[in-house]
Amino acid sequence: MKLCRFNDNRLGVIDGQEVIDVTEALDAIPRSGYPLPPFDPLIANIEAVTHRIGALRGQSKRLRLEEACLLSPVANPGKVIAAPVNYRKHLEEVLANADLHHDVKINHIEKAGLFLKAGSSLVGAGQGIQLRKLDRRNDHEVELAVVIGRTADRISRAEALQHVAGYCIGLDITIRGPEERSFRKSPDTYTVLGPWLTTADEIPDPGRLDLQIRVNGETRQKSNTADLILGVPELIEFASSFYTLQPGDVILTGTPEGVSPIRPSDVILAEIKGLGTMTVHVSARTETLGQRVA
Ligand code: MN
Repeated sequence: MKLCRFNDNRLGVIDGQEVIDVTEALDAIPRSGYPLPPFDPLIANIEAVTHRIGALRGQSKRLRLEEACLLSPVANPGKVIAAPVNYRKHLEEVLANADLHHDVKINHIEKAGLFLKAGSSLVGAGQGIQLRKLDRRNDHEVELAVVIGRTADRISRAEALQHVAGYCIGLDITIRGPEERSFRKSPDTYTVLGPWLTTADEIPDPGRLDLQIRVNGETRQKSNTADLILGVPELIEFASSFYTLQPGDVILTGTPEGVSPIRPSDVILAEIKGLGTMTVHVSARTETLGQRVA
C-alpha cells in the first residue's frame, strides 16, 4: 500500500494517478494527550489504520494526484537519523574535493557513526525546499529513507527488516561547510520525505533499488542501493545498538556520488524504483519570508 499525507493533514491511499481520501481511518489512532509519545502515532498504529482503510476505500472520495499537496508521510518522527558517506564512490568524491570535505576529517561510517537531523527540517514533496545561506554551496542528496514500524532496541541485522514500516524517497539537503553536519543539514525544509510511504510488504529487498535525481531535467545522481556500504539491515543494527528506534523514526541511508549545488527556481525530480517519483521546487527562504512579512 502507498499511503500519503496531503493538503490539510488528510490521509490518502495512492491508486494509480489518483488519491483516495481515507482521512476517516485516522480515527483508529488512540488519542494522545500531553506529554506526546516519543513515537509517531500514525506509524505506531499503522495496522489498525490500514485495516480501517480496507473498509473505507471503496466508498471514499478520490482526487487527482496533481491536485494534492503532498506532506511528509511521517508527521512526527521522534528521530531523523542519517548516515554519512555510505556509498563508496561518494566517499571517494568527498575525499577528492575540498568544497565537499572542508578540511573536516572524513571517517568511514563505522568510525563516524550516524548523525541526527532536526525534526523541524522535515517537509513533504509538495511543500518545497527554501534555501538559506545563498552565498554558500547548497547541495541535493537523494537517499533511500527507511521508516521504522516497531520498537527496536539492539536488533540484529537478521531481524532488522521485521522492524520496518515502509520506505520513501529522502532528500538530505546540505549546506557545505565546516560546521557539524546536524547544523548544516537541519534548516527548515532541508529534509524532504515523499512522495508517500510505500509499506514494507511491497519492498522485499531494499538492497536492490535504483535511485536517481534530476535537476532541471539533468541527471545528477544515479545509483542502486546495492552500492550502500552499510545496507538497511546493518544500519538498523548499528543505530539500535546506540538508541532505541521508535515507530516513525526515519533513517536516511546515505547518498551516492554526484552531489551538486541547487539554486532557487530549480526543479528536482527524484525517483526510487518501487517507491515513486517526486517533484520538489526550490526557492529562496529570504524571498518567500520577505514577501509574507511585507
Ligand atoms: Mn546524506
